[in-house]
Amino acid sequence: MERASPPAFNPAHHDNVDFDFQESLLPMTQHEAAVEANRCLYCYDAPCMHACPTHIDIPTFIRKISTGNLRGSARTILESNFLGGTCARVCPVQELCEGACVMGADHTPIAIGRLQRYAVDHVQERGVQLFTPAPSTGLKVAVIGSGPAGLSAAAELAKLGHAVTLMEKRELGGGLSTYSIIVLREPVEVALREVEAVKRLGVEVRTGTELQDRAGLDTLLREYDAVFLGLGLGAVPATGIPGEEHILDGLVVIEASKMGRPTGIGRRAAVIGAGNTAIDAATVARRLGAETRMVYRRTEAEMTAYRHEYEFALHEGISFDFLTQPVRVLAENGTVTGLECRRMVLGAPDSSGRPRPEPVLGSEFVIGCDTVISAIGQEKPALALALGLAVEGGYIAVSPTLETSIPGVYAGGDCVRVRGSASTVMAVQDGKIAAAGIHAALVAKVAAD
Ligand SMILES: Cc1cc2nc3c(=O)[nH]c(=O)nc-3n(C[C@H](O)[C@H](O)[C@H](O)COP(=O)(O)OP(=O)(O)OC[C@H]3O[C@@H](n4cnc5c(N)ncnc54)[C@H](O)[C@@H]3O)c2cc1C
Ligand code: SF4
Repeated sequence: MERASPPAFNPAHHDNVDFDFQESLLPMTQHEAAVEANRCLYCYDAPCMHACPTHIDIPTFIRKISTGNLRGSARTILESNFLGGTCARVCPVQELCEGACVMGADHTPIAIGRLQRYAVDHVQERGVQLFTPAPSTGLKVAVIGSGPAGLSAAAELAKLGHAVTLMEKRELGGGLSTYSIIVLREPVEVALREVEAVKRLGVEVRTGTELQDRAGLDTLLREYDAVFLGLGLGAVPATGIPGEEHILDGLVVIEASKMGRPTGIGRRAAVIGAGNTAIDAATVARRLGAETRMVYRRTEAEMTAYRHEYEFALHEGISFDFLTQPVRVLAENGTVTGLECRRMVLGAPDSSGRPRPEPVLGSEFVIGCDTVISAIGQEKPALALALGLAVEGGYIAVSPTLETSIPGVYAGGDCVRVRGSASTVMAVQDGKIAAAGIHAALVAKVAAD
């Protein structure tokens, strides 16, 4: 069943885009950054560095901030993570670097994410070019998809002297960082600055260019020495309940909020799902002034959203209906009037290892609302099968160097990642691993020829 598109803009409706949507954390001042940097113990064999999936040398970049060397600090960060500006904003630092910081045991952990943002913004706001590509190798690599995985792979390959062409099907580069991470965490300009930084390394970025099928991949393999696929995932899957056509896609709603388009959100919204994307969609609804309820068929203990995201949502005034399953969307004359739900109880574990929710007979009730949004995850990369790639659980199967079942074709980011562990920083690290794998294979091939 087709999903509803956000309706056309109606000025009588309160959904104009003139609402409280700005990056929620203010940048640090010079004084704040200096004080915070000087709190760091510059630990030997620092646990924060081990906890970072891209292994940024955190004590070194913080020390450089403390001595006022912001370019040097940004260089240290971007050497390990070319998307340091995005990661400074979106990484679940509580679970990673800051969670591992020794200062967290008795005091407050060092604000590593905010310090990273301070240093990277300093150079990226000024368009400073920190890296010079190595002399040309004469070899060509095609990168498909300009999300964090594709941008990271393209940057690393360009630094190594390869001629990189980055192809992106959408109008703007940056993937989910541009279109789907809410402005409160990452404004569009931050993601686009990173695309510009990749271009400044000599990468040719072709937007509006889509890899569609196996014939297209074969053409790329004839024209380029290697191909990297950073395809990401698909749309939000259908819920399968009657009234599906009235449900708004959570990703479409978030994108509309980022791009300054009307979202279609009314005064009372019910959001289906309880992962990070669902919380983001609910945040958009709430910030637009809608009374917002999230509907999840399991309990707080099983929800996949990070704890800090859940707490953020509660703080925003979003309420949660746990052990609640949507049954159908109620509508009159095309206008949503409610979401019929039923109560659930938890039973024995299912294939995911989580307790299976089971319906309570006769427990149906209606949540009154004029907007229903679904954010129950993303579909697996459908193109993988069309390209003839081996898959594992629906994701592209890869070797430890991230080579796929087709020689010379590598993949990374969400399209190879099993459910639950997809994140920007993991996609960035995949881009680095694949770039290293591609480089090693190409160097070996040239040496053998
Ligand atoms: C709402 C939301 C909030 C999130 N919040 C966070 C967060 O706070 N912290 C965090 O770490 N992670 C977060 N994530 C996850 C994070 O955004 C992803 O893990 C990350 O973007 C994955 O990067 P990627 O490059 O693999 O894929 P994507 O970012 O999805 O990029 C894939 C790119 O490939 C392009 N593409 C796809 N197919 C083709 C094709 N055939 N031809 C050409 N181009 C193609 C797409 O248009 C897209 O630009 C969030 C995700 C969502 C949906
Ligand atoms: S663990 Fe904390 S105190 Fe130690 S180097 Fe890392 S940020 Fe600094």
